[in-house]
Parts: sequence; structure tokens; C-alpha cells
Amino acid sequence: MKNFKLITIFLILFTLIACNKKESEPKNNMNKEKSIIAKRLESFAPVKFTTDISFLTKNQKKVIELLTEAGKIADEIYWKQNTADGIAIRDSLAKLNSPEDQELLRYLKIWYGPYDAMYGETRFVGNGPKIRPKQGSFYPQDMTREEFETYVKQHPDEKADLESQYTVVVRDGEKLKAIPYHEAYPEILKIADLLEEAAKFADNATLKTYLELRAKALRTDKYFESDMAWMDIKNNDIDVVIGPIENYTDAMFNYKTAYEAVVMVKDKEASKQLDIFKKNIDYFEHHLPYNKKYIRKTAGSGNILQVANVYYFGGDCNGGTKTIAASLPNDPRVHAKKGGKKSMYKNIMEAKFDKIVLPIAKQIMADDLIPYCSKNSFTSFVTLHEVSHTLGRGYVFGKDNLSIRKALQERFSAIEELKADILSMYNHKHLLDLKLIDQDEMKRTIATFIPGLYRSIRFGAEEAHGKANVIQLNFLMDKGAIKFDDKGKLTYDPAIFMDKVAELAGLVLTIEAEGNYDAAGKLLDDYGHVSESTKKIIEELANVPRDLDNQ
Ligand code: ZN
Repeated sequence: MKNFKLITIFLILFTLIACNKKESEPKNNMNKEKSIIAKRLESFAPVKFTTDISFLTKNQKKVIELLTEAGKIADEIYWKQNTADGIAIRDSLAKLNSPEDQELLRYLKIWYGPYDAMYGETRFVGNGPKIRPKQGSFYPQDMTREEFETYVKQHPDEKADLESQYTVVVRDGEKLKAIPYHEAYPEILKIADLLEEAAKFADNATLKTYLELRAKALRTDKYFESDMAWMDIKNNDIDVVIGPIENYTDAMFNYKTAYEAVVMVKDKEASKQLDIFKKNIDYFEHHLPYNKKYIRKTAGSGNILQVANVYYFGGDCNGGTKTIAASLPNDPRVHAKKGGKKSMYKNIMEAKFDKIVLPIAKQIMADDLIPYCSKNSFTSFVTLHEVSHTLGRGYVFGKDNLSIRKALQERFSAIEELKADILSMYNHKHLLDLKLIDQDEMKRTIATFIPGLYRSIRFGAEEAHGKANVIQLNFLMDKGAIKFDDKGKLTYDPAIFMDKVAELAGLVLTIEAEGNYDAAGKLLDDYGHVSESTKKIIEELANVPRDLDNQ
């Protein structure tokens, strides 16, 4: 409470000083600070995620309304978890009216707090640690990693509770104490009530069961049963992810899970296309471009794939860079019994296309290819990327208990993303052979794929997706499949493009099948560095947003 007041006073003073000085002395430091925020805001294109629910029944609309209300509470809990003073700063800024304060508020809402992950988690507003404390506010702000580890060693009987994914750690005199989420955030009970209320309106029995079990889970912080029921939801129009899910916000230990909510409506049209991909999944597997001995009889698994439009997006998934697909639940016990569910968020993908991919294409692609850059090709490429993660081997050939993840260690993520991407492109050859697409669609896919590479490279070559895209670009350029035209714009050579795609796909599939750590290292080293010409293009793209601001 004391902190809250101090920050409020500080902020009001800060703003007053800034506003006064602006009139007399336009070049003071305060205004420089503000203009930095204005600049950073340009990296986030404003979008409102909505989706058509007009075709839903009255009861279904009521379910959506109640879930959204519950989602907003989950969103508010994430604010509490992410930083200690985010809410106090947000609420003080909301009372101030200057355009600069409103910009700060907008930027604060993008990050759910005063720290900017695009700039090394540095603070951009308010008074407090200059870098985001790694523990978020899941632990005392002055607690160190060493203190926690020592304490846990000395109190082994408290270890399970202190390290639980569903507790907050606080000080209790000399002791550290674990408080279950449902007690630390009493508003969770309200979420549970809303889910039960929504269950009453759910006509779909499997959704009804899930909502009831999820309410129970939120009240007890025991999620297994509800996660199992989530995998059993069938023939539904509505789906929802709500509760504590991912553990990245606890950057100190990755123990504690952050609240989020995704209220989504399944897209039947897009799901039909997905069904075509799924129907051909074994065909894709049998025609993978590498040594036949590695090819499995079937790629089929218990996994569920669905395309949905997001109606409400809040909390962890909405902070900073927006998620376009999610693979859940995280509980390995549920995976072992029922597999996982992958949801593709179509309207978020489409917004990324409109605000980012198309503007990139207009700037860097050859004139004759720009009209071929297509939204449908983008969403179907991303969808086929997700499908392609299930192709190829999960375990090293001849070593049935060595997973490829384990064999490739820290090189796995980039290699696996590379596999999914290049196979998504490669499988279009089969879609063409099977007459499921025509030559024009093939051209659209390639003309959308190339600017898509640059979109992902801008995330940074250190990140797995960024690295995977650098490799594809460098490899295909090196082989002459992607090239510059005489105006210096990007184009491709249709005579060899798909052959070179097949060559890279074969290379990466073989690395995975053999679990070849050294070959993975060589591929990353040979093709994983951003070239000077790519750097130049990335710089020229500085005016294109990097991500979305969900308003
Ligand atoms: Zn992926």
C-alpha cells in the first residue's frame, strides 16, 4: 500500500514536470523519454481481436459472455503475477489525460507492467528495480535464488509446496511460506463461479463437464482431471483455455505458472482445410524426402488440431508478442494418456498478415510477386507448419528410447522449427500432385513464404524460430532458389525452388533421424548467421510493426 501511494505521487509529479517543461523547453530529458515510448509503440500495430459469433445460439453467446468475464479476471491476476507495481502504475496513469501519459499507459498494457522485453526487460516508467526482477511477483521482491535454494534444502518437508507451480511464496518472519493460488488471489473463486454459471448454458455435454471440472480445479489448484476433460471436448463450437498455464513469467526458476485466458470459437471452414492436411498426414510421412529406411508406417497420433478465432485473449498469452498457436495442456501425465491439443488462432494470424507480412512483402518483393502475397496462403502455411511438427521421427533411428530432443540438446528447438517450416513448404508439392491446390496457389504460397522468413528473422537469430528462418533464407539464397531481381527486389527461381526446398528438408530430417548433434551444429553454423544483405533489408523494414497491440 505504501508503495502504491509513493508511486502514484511520483507519477503525478513526473507528469506535471514533464508537461510544464514541454511548453517552455521542448528538448528536456523527460520529453525525450516520452518520445522513446512513442517510437516503441510504433512497433505494435493496434488491433482489436474479435470474431463473428452471430451464428451461435443464444445459449452459446451467453457462454462466451460469461467466459470472457472470467477471462478478464484471469487477465488481472496476470498483472499481479508479472510485476509488483504494474497495477499501481496503470491505475495512476489511467487518471492522467496528457497524450504522453496515455502513450505510456498503452505501452504499459502491452507489457503488463513497467518492463520492456524487447529492450532487455528494462524499466520504462515508475520507480523501482531498473531490470525486471526475475522472480516476477511470485516470490518476495528481495529474495535471491540462493536464499530460496538454501531455504528449501534446510526445510525439505516444505519443498513441494514452495516449488509448486500453483503457490505464491511470501515471507513469514524469518520463514518463507507457500500460499496456494486460490488463497493468494481470492478472485479465482469468482472465475470458478463464472465457469459454473457458463456450464449451465453449455449445450455441449463435453464442454459442460470440462467447465464444471475446471471450476473445481481452480478452487483447489488440482488441474489433472480438468485437463483430461479438456482433451475430451468434442463437436464443440466454443473452446476455452483458462487458469495458470505457462511458467516463463517466473524467470528465476520456471516453477510458477502464469494466469491466462483464451476464449475461442472454432472456425469450421478453416478446420475443413485442416482435415485435408490431417487426412494426408500418412501420405506426407511416406513421401518425406530422405532415406526410406527412416520413414515410419504412420504419423498418426492422438493429437487434436483445431483452427479457432480468438474472441477474448488475456493474461500471459497476450503480453508482448502475441501467440498464434498453442499446444496444451502441459501436464505430461495428460500427454501420456490422451496426447495434446494444438489450437491455431486464425484471426491473430490474419492480423499478423495484414499488419506485418503484407507490408514487408510490399517493400521487399519483386513487383510481379506482390499481388500473390496472400492471407489464406499465410494461415494455411502456418497450419501446415503445425501439422508438420508431427512428421519425421520422434526417436533416433535404431535407438527407441533416445528422443531427438535429447540427442540434439540445445540445438533441438531451432532444428525442429526448421523442420516444421521447410516441410510445410515442401508438402505443398504433394498438395499440388494430389490436385488439392493449383499452380497459382503454389505461387501464392512461395510469394508469402519469402516475406514470412523476414518477419521471423526480425525476432532475432538467437530465438529458435528466428534461427530456423535465417537458415532457410541463407540456404535457398545460396542455392539460387531465392534471388534478387535487377531492381534489387526478392524473387525466386521456379525451375529449382521446390528441389532446393526438398534438399534442405532432407538434410534436416536426416539430422533428426540420426540424432546427429554435430551435423545439427554444422548446419546452424553454416547457414545460421544473418548476412550483411539481410541486415540491410531488416534495417529498411524498421517502419513495419513487429507485433500487435491487442486493444
Ligand atoms: Zn513450430
